[in-house]
Amino acid sequence: MRPKQRILSAPVYQPGKPIDDVKREFGLTEVIKLASNENPLGCSPKAKEAIRAQLDSLALYPDGASLQLRWDLADFLGVKPEQLIFGNGSDEIILMISRAYLEVGTNTVMATPSFSQYRSNAMVEGAELIEIPLKDGVHDLEAMAAAINDQTRVVWVCNPNNPSGTIVTAEQLSSFLKKVPQDVLVVMDEAYYEYVVDEEYPQTIPLLAQYPNLIILRTFSKIYGLASLRVGYGIASEELISQLDHVREPFNTGSLGQAAARAALQDQDFVKACCQQNREGIKQFTDRFDEWGLSYYPSQTNFILVNLNLDSDEVFGKLLQQGIIVRSGRALGFPGYQRITVGTREQNEKVLQALSNILVGAGK
Ligand SMILES: *Cc1c(COP(=O)(O)O)cnc(C)c1O
Repeated sequence: MRPKQRILSAPVYQPGKPIDDVKREFGLTEVIKLASNENPLGCSPKAKEAIRAQLDSLALYPDGASLQLRWDLADFLGVKPEQLIFGNGSDEIILMISRAYLEVGTNTVMATPSFSQYRSNAMVEGAELIEIPLKDGVHDLEAMAAAINDQTRVVWVCNPNNPSGTIVTAEQLSSFLKKVPQDVLVVMDEAYYEYVVDEEYPQTIPLLAQYPNLIILRTFSKIYGLASLRVGYGIASEELISQLDHVREPFNTGSLGQAAARAALQDQDFVKACCQQNREGIKQFTDRFDEWGLSYYPSQTNFILVNLNLDSDEVFGKLLQQGIIVRSGRALGFPGYQRITVGTREQNEKVLQALSNILVGAGK
């Protein structure tokens, strides 16, 4: 067979190691996974009820336009229903954007290290990558704006950034947007939006009126705890959404996902409780890291990137043997670091205990 050569140079996504894999490999019965920024509290009980109510309709195709979810979400966000697009996770919207705007002869600007999917989708489309290094773990928006040229079609801003957990502020974003030409698409990936507590974080929906070249991506996978159901969404001008609709698969979100997302949206008390518990978890980690003299990036997400100054893959392996799955910083562009998802208080304590043993063992 003769695949298109350029797809072979696009990396295959490396997910967090699955729990069952680790149980089998190490003969463990208890394994905690703090590798994929999943919600340790699960999802709202209302979402589970909504799924049960769907079980007699599994033979029917889903509503391809996600109409009920569309109306609910438009109402919740204060936008028009026509300003929304749904995806099989926001991952699929990243794919749709790449498919619609990138091709050979164009380029796309992004930060590095950042979320891997901007890069791999751009490579599949044959667009040139312009990667601008983070500055102190934060998007260097001035350098990103300066890198835009006539062939640039899409600029990606992951805010907060995965894997560093940092944000760009409203002020920084506003001066950046003024510099971006009107025909260049700016993608704000806000997968962790609901976890952010910093008051300098930009509220981007009001910016849509002024910037028809802006799209905001959010998801039901992270704080809403519905990662397995794959529902993400984009918010943008009607014109932009109607362009993306040309590359959307007809039934790209399922009925269970749509129903669960609607119910989850109604349970904002659950979201608030998760956000609050997450901040306590972040503090649990940073208090200990401060005590140990370790540096880390200030996180506005449900994960923390910490510099252990030890070989990432070795530490990752040692944690794995003890039934703890995190993300090795090496694979994420931060050698010496680990990215740890905030779990329950008990899970966090277990990781900290294991890390403390590893640090002591290494003479630190
Ligand atoms: C998790 C994540 C996504 C993808 O989430 P979906 O499950 O596909 O909705 C997108 N962007 C970033 C930065 C993420 O961390």
